[in-house]
Formats: sequence, structure tokens, C-alpha cells
Amino acid sequence: MDGGKKRHRVPLTGKDSMKLTHTDLNLLLEHPFQISRGTQTVAENVLVTLEHGDIVGLGEAAPSGYYGESQATVHTVLDHLSGELGSDPFELDAILDRLDHAIRLHPSAKAAIDLALHDLMGKRLGIPLYAMYGLSAGGTPLTSFTIGIDTPQMMAQKAAAASRYHILKVKVGTPHDRENLAAIRAVTNATIRVDANAAWSAKEAVRAIDELSEFDLEFVEQPVAAADLDGLQYVREHVRIPVICDESCVVPSDIPRIVGRVDGINIKLVKCGGVRRAYQMIQTARSFGLRVMMGCMVESSILITAAAHLSPLLDYADLDGNLLLAADPYSGAIVEHGRLQLPSAPGLGVAYRS
Ligand code: MG
Repeated sequence: MDGGKKRHRVPLTGKDSMKLTHTDLNLLLEHPFQISRGTQTVAENVLVTLEHGDIVGLGEAAPSGYYGESQATVHTVLDHLSGELGSDPFELDAILDRLDHAIRLHPSAKAAIDLALHDLMGKRLGIPLYAMYGLSAGGTPLTSFTIGIDTPQMMAQKAAAASRYHILKVKVGTPHDRENLAAIRAVTNATIRVDANAAWSAKEAVRAIDELSEFDLEFVEQPVAAADLDGLQYVREHVRIPVICDESCVVPSDIPRIVGRVDGINIKLVKCGGVRRAYQMIQTARSFGLRVMMGCMVESSILITAAAHLSPLLDYADLDGNLLLAADPYSGAIVEHGRLQLPSAPGLGVAYRS
């Protein structure tokens, strides 16, 4: 009851509008990273800073050509969106709605802004992002470490070198999957999940998963093409392990149409548009009884840490994109005994490694 009086928010730092800057963030990989549709040696990402009064929020875009983005499109879109930010980072939902009205798609550019807004809010409040969402830093899951496609010897060598992770995610979808998995299984007792990145037809997928079942797989990710929802369902009905979709489920509105066809979804900040949209996807997926995983692209600790803050809500985490880098320019969440550990500093809690 407020007696009909209008409430007024006290401005945080006057009417300073938020100032957005963005620069290339080129991240070299330690080893070339191969999946079923291509090989990557450098991640051409974009660093975003959002200045508000005396505080700077950090964000990152990891554009993917598969979803129609590049470093160049991110810069163009960020310039286009810079006038939509206003002067109060706490108007998060209204700002994100304005971005969506200003331009469709371009989720990785929008995610970079969303991250910087969350970083600003947390720094202004003096609390870490996970606390803003009511989560406990003690509830983080194990993360998998990804083994890209290579020779069986190299894949086994990488699996052996990754012995501090309890879960390996192995990329499949090649004619040599069986040899690759056999070589890896010979050197590790870790839990193994596989990701085909849409490489198979539904029937090929069932055959391949059946053939790989002796290696004790936890689940299979995206066995068939993104648009092949009937194929996903066919695979789910014919294999004994859970089917998780990634490329088939990008934004919240994709969720209802995959219900009943898969066991869970893999959410990525740069596919859905950032922390806020990812949180909405988690809630929506849960309401349909789906399992929830969060994954990543090749990213610095900025994006990885942002995702890690939501990880107490997950069944499965695959937040290792920073671990594949030759040198990560930022520090943030770390992995200890295979488990994600969240920073307690305000906001994202990431810092430049000087
Ligand atoms: Mg995937």
C-alpha cells in the first residue's frame, strides 16, 4: 500500500548513460580443435566494456559462423545497439527487450552486453553474480573436459593428460569413432559423454551409439541435424542413453518443440543471448521436465565464469572453453578436482591477468 503515491527510484550515479566499447579478443588455442564440421585454431572473440560512473563491467562475445555471426557482425551490431542502453544497468530486462526489438538474432553480441550489465550490477551491489540469482557457490557441478577429433593416439594422449577431470566429452561423428573411443577408454576410467555435432542421420546415430556402447557412455549430444527433430526422437526411442540437444535448441522459444524428443538441452550464453536468457531457458526447460546442461564455445574466462555462476542449477556442465586456450587473458572461475569453483569477487569476478 503506498497511498497512491508514485514511487521514485533514487538514481545510482546521476544520469550518466552507460558507455560501451568493444575490441577484438583473438584467443589462440593450445591445440587445433576439431569437431565433426571443422577445425579451429583461433577464437575470434570480442571484448566488451561498459562504463557506468566509476565502475566498468566486462563482457565477451564468442561469435560462431554456424549461427551467422563473426567478429565483424558483432562490432557492427554493438555499434547499432550502443544507443539502447540507457543509464541504469538495473533495468536489465527492459534493456534486453530493447536490444531484441532493435535487431533480431545476433545472440553473441547481445550476450556480451548482458554479461557487462550483470558485472555492473554485481559490482554496484558488492555481491557475486551467483548471489544475485540466489545460488550457493557450494552447489557447483563437475565440468567435463572436451577431447576434439584427432588420431586415436593423440586423443588418448589428451585424455590421459586430462586426468584431473572426472568427465570427458569426446567429439564423434567420424569414420574412426570406435578406434578413438577404444584408445581413450584404454587410458581412463572417467565418465565419457559424446557429441556428434549433428554429424549423423537418425539411423546412423542409432548404429554408431550401439557400436560405442561398450565404452560406457553417459549421454550423446546432438546426434542428428539441428532441424531433424523427428530424427532426435527416433534416436531417443532407439538408444539406451540420454539424448541431449545443442544445435536444435538455441533460444527459449525452441524448447516446447523439442519436448518429448530429447532428454535435455545444452544451453550456451552466446546462443541464447546471455545470463538472463540462459536463466529463463533453465526455468522453462525444468517446467517441461528436461535435464539441463550448459556448454560453451572457445572462450576466455569472462564468458566461462558468467556461465559458471549459473552452474549450481545444472545437471551437466561443459564449461571448459578457456582450458583449451594457449593463454587465457582473464582469470575467474577455476576447476578444482574436476569441479567448478566460483570467484567471490563482486559481479562476474573476473580480472585481467597482467
Ligand atoms: Mg555440442
